[in-house]
Amino acid sequence: MTRLKLATVFAIGALSYAISGSFANADEERRERRKVEADAIFFNGKVITLEDVEQPKHKTKIVRAFAVRDGRFLAVGDNDDVMRFSGRNTRKVNLKGRTVIPGLADGHFHSIGGGPGMDLSQTRSLADLFAVVAKAAQAAAPGQILMSNSDWHEAQLAEQRLPLASELDISAPNNPVVLVRGGHEYILNNVALRLFNITLDTPVPAGGAIPRTPDGQLNGELVDNARQLVTLPPPPPQTPEQQRQALLDTQSRMNSMGVTAVRNALSSVAVYRRWQALRDEGAISLRNAFLIGGLGTAAAVENFVATSGVQPNEGDDWLRLVGLKFISDGGFEGGLMRDPYKEPYGHGGTYHGLQVVNGANYFGALKAAALHGWRVATHAVGDAAIDLVLEGYKQAHDAAPFAKGEWVIEHGFIAQPDHFPRIRELGLVLSVQDHLFLAAPSLKRMWGEERATHVTPVRTYLNQGFLLVGGTDTPVVPLNPWWAMYHFLTRDTISDGVYGADERVLNREDVLRLFTLNYARLIHEEQTKGSISTGKLADFVVVSRDFLTVPEAEIRNLSALATYVGGKRVYLAPEMQDRDL
Ligand SMILES: [Zn+2]
Repeated sequence: MTRLKLATVFAIGALSYAISGSFANADEERRERRKVEADAIFFNGKVITLEDVEQPKHKTKIVRAFAVRDGRFLAVGDNDDVMRFSGRNTRKVNLKGRTVIPGLADGHFHSIGGGPGMDLSQTRSLADLFAVVAKAAQAAAPGQILMSNSDWHEAQLAEQRLPLASELDISAPNNPVVLVRGGHEYILNNVALRLFNITLDTPVPAGGAIPRTPDGQLNGELVDNARQLVTLPPPPPQTPEQQRQALLDTQSRMNSMGVTAVRNALSSVAVYRRWQALRDEGAISLRNAFLIGGLGTAAAVENFVATSGVQPNEGDDWLRLVGLKFISDGGFEGGLMRDPYKEPYGHGGTYHGLQVVNGANYFGALKAAALHGWRVATHAVGDAAIDLVLEGYKQAHDAAPFAKGEWVIEHGFIAQPDHFPRIRELGLVLSVQDHLFLAAPSLKRMWGEERATHVTPVRTYLNQGFLLVGGTDTPVVPLNPWWAMYHFLTRDTISDGVYGADERVLNREDVLRLFTLNYARLIHEEQTKGSISTGKLADFVVVSRDFLTVPEAEIRNLSALATYVGGKRVYLAPEMQDRDL
């Protein structure tokens, strides 16, 4: 057959992705295969497929090559197996021994950080932080409120503590300062405390805290629901083009980290619609799942069901609604604990953290969600918060049973053995992140060493056989997924060494699964995502070094050389040439 005729055969060949196993004999199979020409072939690599081999248990199949066509893996195997799909127009990429893994997923994502406020993410000492505030104050009109972005934590500062209201006054004597930190905490200067009329006599809102200094003054912190005492100026309105640009920035940043999918942990139908528009114009490069937040009562859930125009689990390969999001307790300063906080945070054994929802409202909302077939995910940091969530989920399950692998606990910092049978009975999924990596010394101060060293017991959860999904909670914790994997493997922390070595995950493939295959299971798309398997979507990452053999300390320094989503290259590291990967 001439070259030309072959090309014609390729062009008219009707394609099936189920290449193997469906042919009467080897001859027929060979003839059929010749019709299928790959768009691209990647060969001479170390491809960590995350497909299981039978023995030994927990070992993944490693292959040398794979072929891609129409956005999916066409073949996965040895160089020779895969080269059979080479045709005249096939792009061939010599991986030169480089490692390839399935595209990473961040199972608990908010944003890539940043924003219109003061940027504290690069500060490394209180002096740095005060300098940022002073510079903003000098540029501001008197009385103008100075806000920060939320993507910073005091554990990144040499002093490992928050600034005091009185210290912020020195940097900004004429301007109210509101430092936003993570999702649960504001720090105000005294100018701002006066502006919002917050004094020692201000009643503390339920589910909130207004901490004081040892000598009884307001230190400037407002925790959880106490933040409602402050009315912040609305962010500057964004034009539709700016909103679109923010999505483009988000996906290119995440793609550059090797991330091909995120689960938006507190989102809205409006944001879902924005991503749909980006998908419809063909500009999308990040797969998104969405948890819809802000529905605190049964009535709110009923209203959402009646008016939102969306259905449970609706979506496609790119975008999917995967549940409703609730928040039961605080974060670092407000995780709800069975035992009191360590002194002085325990206030004489009385402070157990914060329950930020009314129990009856929350339980009612859960039941309404279950009755309407919506999955639920609840933020629960402390063990007493998990108690609350398990009770609410049980009541909802009694009212309208949901299947195993559906409802989720987010974070689960502090678990107790008596939780485990209840988690198993309801078939709950656990969504875990690397907060300890960032905030370890703060958690030790507030909760004591015993509790801090067991924060997010990933290995215990794995040993219990729970479905576990990894993530970062960015911008609360930096968005780098390699840091999260490093932390789960080592229990190392940014500034305070190893915490709880007995919770180290021993197997690198297990950690990789948390960010790939387990995520696909969580969103019920394991048939099409999460591993490098024939027929699945071609989402993959070429990694800077070998994830399985690089020295453990180097895992935090891994990076993506190239990221592919649906067979299309969406990121190429600056050090690589276009023809390389
Ligand atoms: Zn979160």
